[in-house]
Amino acid sequence: MNFSDLGLSDELQKAIGDAGYTTPTPIQEQAIPYVLMGRDVLGCAQTGTGKTAGFTLPMIEILASGRARARMPRSLILEPTRELAAQVANSFEKYGAQHKLSMALLIGGESFSDQERKLDRGVDVLIATPGRMIDLYERGKILMSDVKILVIDEADRMLDMGFIPDVERIVSLLSPIRQTLFFSATMPPEIRRLADAFLQNPKEVSVAPPASPATTVTQGLLVVDQDDKREVLRRLIRSEDVKNAIIFCNRKRDVDILHKSLIKHGFDAGALHGDMAQSKRTETLERFRNNEIRLLVASDVAARGLDVQGLSHVFNFDVPIHAEDYVHRIGRTGRAGREGRAFTVAMPEEGRAVAAIVKLIGRDIPPVDVEGISTLELSYDDVKRGRGRGGRTASSSTSSDRPRRDRAPREKQREKQEISAQVEVAPQVEVATQVEAAPSRPLRERSERKPRERQPRERKPREGASDEALRPISMDREANVTTIPFQARRDSQRQDNQRQDNHRRHDRYEDDDRRVVGFGDHLPAFLARPSKVAGG
Ligand code: AMP
Repeated sequence: MNFSDLGLSDELQKAIGDAGYTTPTPIQEQAIPYVLMGRDVLGCAQTGTGKTAGFTLPMIEILASGRARARMPRSLILEPTRELAAQVANSFEKYGAQHKLSMALLIGGESFSDQERKLDRGVDVLIATPGRMIDLYERGKILMSDVKILVIDEADRMLDMGFIPDVERIVSLLSPIRQTLFFSATMPPEIRRLADAFLQNPKEVSVAPPASPATTVTQGLLVVDQDDKREVLRRLIRSEDVKNAIIFCNRKRDVDILHKSLIKHGFDAGALHGDMAQSKRTETLERFRNNEIRLLVASDVAARGLDVQGLSHVFNFDVPIHAEDYVHRIGRTGRAGREGRAFTVAMPEEGRAVAAIVKLIGRDIPPVDVEGISTLELSYDDVKRGRGRGGRTASSSTSSDRPRRDRAPREKQREKQEISAQVEVAPQVEVATQVEAAPSRPLRERSERKPRERQPRERKPREGASDEALRPISMDREANVTTIPFQARRDSQRQDNQRQDNHRRHDRYEDDDRRVVGFGDHLPAFLARPSKVAGG
C-alpha cells in the first residue's frame, strides 16, 4: 500500500516524501483511513511503530479547512511527558510543512507568557502535558469548547504516572461532539475501561502484540554483586561497539550518582531525569541526539516514546521495577528494523523481578559474562526489593548490625589497571584498543553457569569520596521506600489550598521516584461505572 491509497492530499504526500517515507507503516495503514472518516480510534501500538504520523497526518488533513479562534484550540493532543510532547510538536512541524496550521506546545518548565501569547493568537493544534494544560485552563487562558479532535497518547503511561484524574477533568471540559483518538502500548482492563468512557463506537486498530520487544534487539543479562555493578557497566560499554546508549536507572538520585561516576571514569555522558530544569533536559537531549554525548544516564522519563535515531545500545543499570518498563526501555534501540543491543545488570536478589520480565516477554534473557567479573546466580527467594545487597530475607541482619565490607583485592586490582589505562590513553582510544587487543570478545554468552558462593564482604570508604557517592544503591533505595516523608508531604498537600496545589502539581508529575500507583487516592468516575469489558 502507498500513502496515495490512504486518502491524503497532495500537500501531505509531498511532506511525507520530504520526510523520506515511502510506504505507510501498519498502524498508519490501519488508522489513517478511519481518522479521515471522523471515527474514534482505539489504537494499541508501541512507540516506534509510526503511530505519531498515524494520527498527525490525518489531523492535518482535517484541520486544513477551518480557522482557529483566539484561545480556542481546535484540537488537543495530551502526552505524558514533556519530551514526548516536544517530539509530537516536531512531527507536526515536519508533516505540516505544506500547511499553515498554527500549533502551541504547553509543557511545564517553559515560560507561561510565551505560551499564553500563542494561545491568544488562536491555535489549530494544542500539544500539552495534562498538568500544564489544567494550570492554563485555571488561569482562564484557554477555552476548550472548540476542540473537535482529542488525542490521548500513551494512555498506559498516563495511568502509571497518576495523570488519569487530570485527563478525566480535561475530557469533561470538552464538547461531547468530538473525535477522540486513544493510543496505548498495552491494553490492561483499566485502560479498556478508560477507553470505554472516552470513546464512542471506536474502531480498534492494533499492531505489535503488547509487551513484545522488537526482534532486532539482542538482549543479555548479567547477574553481579551490587558492588560490581558500575564496574560491569564500564566494561560492557568498553567491550561493546557502543555508538550511543541510554543507561536506565530506577531512581533519579542513582542517575546523578552514576552520571558523575561515568564522567569520573572518562566517559562522555549526560543525565536526564524529572528533577532537572526543563532547559537542561532539552539541552541534554539535544546534545545526545546530535551525538555530542555518547551516553545518556536516564530515569524512566526517557523510557517511553523517545526517538533517538539509530540508538545502538540500552543498558539497564537497574532491573526495572515494573516489567513492562523493560519493554519500553529496550524499545529505544532496534527501531525501524535496525539492530540494537540491550543489557540488563541484575543483582542476585532480583530474581523475581527478572522472572516477571521473562514471563511478560515470553522468552529468556540470555545470561552473558564480562571478562574479569564474577557473575552470580539469580535468587528467587522471597526477598523484598531494595532491602539491601546480598538477598537479605526478613530474618537476615539489619543494615546497622551488618559488617561493613572490605573491598575485594580483585576490585582494587581492577581500579589500578583502569587508572593506568586512563593515564596512557584517551577514553575513546582505550575502547578501540581494548576491543582489538582482546583475543576473543570479552562479552560472551554463557555456556555453563557456575554458581558462586557469595561471601559477606566489608566495604571501606574510599579516600576523598563523598558519603553520597559511596552509599550503596540499595541504601538509597531504602531511603526512597521509607514512607514517612512521602506521607508527611501528602498530608501537608491536603492542608494546602487548591491554588498552591496547582502550582506544585507539575513537580509531583515529574517526580518519577515517587510513582503514583494506579489512581492514588482518587476514584475516577469511569471506574464507578459498569464496564462492558469481559473480566474487567
Ligand atoms: P513513532 O512510533 O511515531 O515514534 O515513530 C517512530 C519513527 O518512525 C520516527 O522516527 C518516524 O520518523 C519514523 N516513521 C514514521 N512513519 C514512517 C514511515 N511510514 N516510514 C518510515 N519511517 C517512519
